[in-house]
Amino acid sequence: MSLLSLSGHVPDDVLAQLVPTRAALPRRADVVVIGGGIVGCASAYYLAAAGFSVALVERDTVSSQQSGRNWGFVRTQYRDPLELPLAVEALSIWPELERELGEAVGWRRTGCVFVAETEAEHAAFARWRDTTREISSEARMLSRQETEELLPPLSKPVKGALFTASDGQAEPALATMAFARAATRAGVRIIEDCGVFAIERSAGRVSGVLTEHGRIEANLVVCAAGAQSHRLLAPLGLTLPQQNVRSTVSLTAPLPPLSEPCFCGYGIGLRQRADGSCIIAADSCSDIDLTLDSMRAMRFFLPEFLRHRSGFSLRLGRPLLDDLHERLAVPKPERAAAGRRPRIPANRDRAERTGEVVRGLFAGSTGLAIVKSWAGYIDVLPDALPVLDAPGAVSGLIVATGFSGHGFGLGPAVGRHVAHLAKGEPADHAIAPLKLERFARGTYARAHAPL
Ligand SMILES: Cc1cc2nc3c(=O)[nH]c(=O)nc-3n(C[C@H](O)[C@H](O)[C@H](O)COP(=O)(O)OP(=O)(O)OC[C@H]3O[C@@H](n4cnc5c(N)ncnc54)[C@H](O)[C@@H]3O)c2cc1C
Repeated sequence: MSLLSLSGHVPDDVLAQLVPTRAALPRRADVVVIGGGIVGCASAYYLAAAGFSVALVERDTVSSQQSGRNWGFVRTQYRDPLELPLAVEALSIWPELERELGEAVGWRRTGCVFVAETEAEHAAFARWRDTTREISSEARMLSRQETEELLPPLSKPVKGALFTASDGQAEPALATMAFARAATRAGVRIIEDCGVFAIERSAGRVSGVLTEHGRIEANLVVCAAGAQSHRLLAPLGLTLPQQNVRSTVSLTAPLPPLSEPCFCGYGIGLRQRADGSCIIAADSCSDIDLTLDSMRAMRFFLPEFLRHRSGFSLRLGRPLLDDLHERLAVPKPERAAAGRRPRIPANRDRAERTGEVVRGLFAGSTGLAIVKSWAGYIDVLPDALPVLDAPGAVSGLIVATGFSGHGFGLGPAVGRHVAHLAKGEPADHAIAPLKLERFARGTYARAHAPL
């Protein structure tokens, strides 16, 4: 059995791989990074490489949220043209990561294919291909026959496909932990089980963070708290309209070869791993657990929800009760760190239906058995683009969040840009469209693809 098949993808296994050095809370650091997902860990790694002393503070455990729960696609294909330069940059880093970090990250250049079921999808892919040619020329349109040659087990008719041979895949938990461990070796102090209550300011600039275990002074703070970022930014007067969307994923037992490239089509996403097991999920079909936060953010999302009504199920239930309970039981200044180790229930019906679609789509998959299903909360912003910015309104703050379901592949490049921003370098053209102020100013555009 290969190393990859022994290494866990799923959250339970992630929890068993804690970062070896548990550090005590330092009194001071040059930079505090909030959040131990791939964005926080990659940022910490590149910040340490740039000479900063860094403390990374994580409410739960490293990689316990989106970064340990995602599909593992590393793609440039069909990205919003505004995000594509960052994705191209990230793709140039992935092949070097194992050598740089000294650990397996599960990187494989397998390509990425989106098959078109309808003429309208085919036309949308072709339009994207034409408008992004100057940023990246790697993607190409495949004819029906070429698609069938690329995917011999595909048993449903297609109009054609969009294919990028240079895209690939990696193992989410492995990659995030590899960044965390490399950061630790470079001197970063990672403190788990330590929620940040507040980003503190003094004399008009960031002065550190208040955590549940005490204070850390710092002139620079990176907010990489994923789905909780809006709670840390709101007290600073910063608008981050986040909608947390629950998405269910399943791991299958090993199957015969179905698709070498990461695959999207017929409403599902599929990534076949090195041992033949598959990560499968419904594509563009998720649950929104209504809470007071989600209702408050709704006005920013309404146009998109109305456009793609079939893609979402609004759920009224336990999360709303938990939210109300939290508001009564947890003092307001501590709410940013509330909700440790959230139980995120997988949508079992959706998982079963996805398995059925895969069985009907690929010859050789009739014996598909789901080994495990889980869910993750995706931190969606109204234009489905992240924020990667040092907002002028709060000197010393860097925000890297809101990756809207595509941040795993971007992670390594994001970490590099965070280090550049920390050094005071001007925002590179790749991140110029990702400023936070677009929401307060109302200058953001419609999402390029359904949220
Ligand atoms: C089901 C699913 C499928 C996806 N598929 C893909 C894919 O195929 N390809 C891709 O590129 N992307 C994918 N994504 C998106 C990708 O996983 C995320 O964009 C990326 O992992 C975001 O990383 P992050 O570090 O910003 O957030 P996270 O990994 O969520 O990390 C944020 C961390 O901050 C911590 N935190 C929160 N509040 C506090 C606080 N107050 N104090 C301290 N710590 C705090 C949290 O505990 C968490 O560990 C998917 C996401 C999901 C859920």
